[in-house]
Amino acid sequence: MTQKLHIIGGGMAGSEAAWQAANLGIEVVIHEMRPTVETFAHRTGNFAEMVCSNSLRSDDDEQNAVGLLHWEMRQAGGIIMATADKHKIPAGGALAVDRDPFAQSVTDALMAHPNISVEYGEITELPKDGHWIIATGPLTSQGLGEAIQAETGADALAFFDAIAPIVYSESINMDVAWLQSRYDKGNSEEERKAYVNCPMTKDQYEAFIDAILAAEQAEFHEGETAGYFDGCLPIEVMAERGRETLRFGPMKPVGLTNAHDPENKPYAVVQLRRDNALGTLMNIVGFQTKMKYGAQAEVLKMIPGLEEASFARLGGIHRNTFINSPTLLDDQMRLKSQPHIRFAGQITGVEGYVESAAMGLLAGRFAAAEILEKPVSALPQDTAMGALVHHITGGAEAKTFQPMNVNFGLFQPVEGLKNGRRGRKDRYKAYTDRAKAAWTDWLAPQE
Ligand SMILES: Cc1cc2nc3c(=O)[nH]c(=O)nc-3n(C[C@H](O)[C@H](O)[C@H](O)COP(=O)(O)OP(=O)(O)OC[C@H]3O[C@@H](n4cnc5c(N)ncnc54)[C@H](O)[C@@H]3O)c2cc1C
Repeated sequence: MTQKLHIIGGGMAGSEAAWQAANLGIEVVIHEMRPTVETFAHRTGNFAEMVCSNSLRSDDDEQNAVGLLHWEMRQAGGIIMATADKHKIPAGGALAVDRDPFAQSVTDALMAHPNISVEYGEITELPKDGHWIIATGPLTSQGLGEAIQAETGADALAFFDAIAPIVYSESINMDVAWLQSRYDKGNSEEERKAYVNCPMTKDQYEAFIDAILAAEQAEFHEGETAGYFDGCLPIEVMAERGRETLRFGPMKPVGLTNAHDPENKPYAVVQLRRDNALGTLMNIVGFQTKMKYGAQAEVLKMIPGLEEASFARLGGIHRNTFINSPTLLDDQMRLKSQPHIRFAGQITGVEGYVESAAMGLLAGRFAAAEILEKPVSALPQDTAMGALVHHITGGAEAKTFQPMNVNFGLFQPVEGLKNGRRGRKDRYKAYTDRAKAAWTDWLAPQE
């Protein structure tokens, strides 16, 4: 094999990509800047270092989307899952690992692979030719970040995420909330009803502000800047600036009429907007927050209509380098403007160790198939991998794109099953059964 695959970054994604491609017979070079150049979060020079929690989250492959992703990665011979299983420590239904032996084992396995070599040092330029995967993660070095930005344009690369909480549409109480765009703007009925609106009385608003001000906030990690950018202030910072700030910001009630009570003007309104083309996920507009997860869920459930809300993800603000994948990448994770470069991992706008490794697995397989000139068939959207990659490369709203973790809201509904909480168990089982069959079929010709 003369055509090498170069992978920049030996983290969760880069390690998995290297393993997959090498096992398909490709010669792989991993370019890793640590330990020569460090990040604020990594502590070692090992590959696949877990920078914070030691958990790969739920291992339930029937009722949980992350558990399903575990299953799909195991089926594909993933090194991250195999090593996690080897270094598993007790954690209830979650898959937690002994972090140092885990990273050491991944490193040893990659180093020992006859098709893999490692070149240490920071890459600061975009490669001009060859086959490349950029998997440099949320803490991509400044030099490479600037090179990526020069190619993609400043607006298409973010250095922080500002995530507003995302709610499963089916868990919103539409007896309280109603559909309407502000001032009924839009050219079609769908556009005029693009937002879900949750009304608040004055008392509800005041209690809500008190709760926000009292809620515990997550600390910024060392090395993260707590400087906020215009238009992305966390709601608690807005509330601290003045009790009315939110009512003149994301909670302004103007241009809206409560369909359930047209005579009474709401004192404030919380709006939710579609977060995916399927319409199964809604994000709470302008509600980026650093409130701790427990406190956040409690406070958000005070919003009328969201009392029973299920969250696909809670809000957060972190140091996080990620590209606008919906506009920049094709469905094989290639940079449209430079198709010899793929992106994988958290830099593509997925979130979490498992999701990052999963995108590495795919990128490694796609790149290997290209080098071997054995194209793979289109990835079924009904798999967890497919749902996630479809979301980042096309399903998500490009304008408001923020990192996403895997969840059932990304899956196409299974026809004929009950909606809402009551049907949830059956629905999730149907999603995971369908995904497992589709993933098995997709993998079979590649083995
Ligand atoms: C502080 C922090 C805490 C997090 N906590 C969690 C958590 O608890 N749970 C969770 O699921 N997710 C967490 N994440 C999110 C994310 O899932 C992990 O960061 C995950 O490791 C991402 O995998 P990755 O492969 O994309 O990037 P990484 O694992 O970070 O790997 C990227 C690699 O690229 C290298 N690199 C960067 N730039 C260059 C360059 N120019 N040249 C060569 N090498 C380079 C880095 O040294 C690194 O080894 C956290 C992120 C951060 C920043």
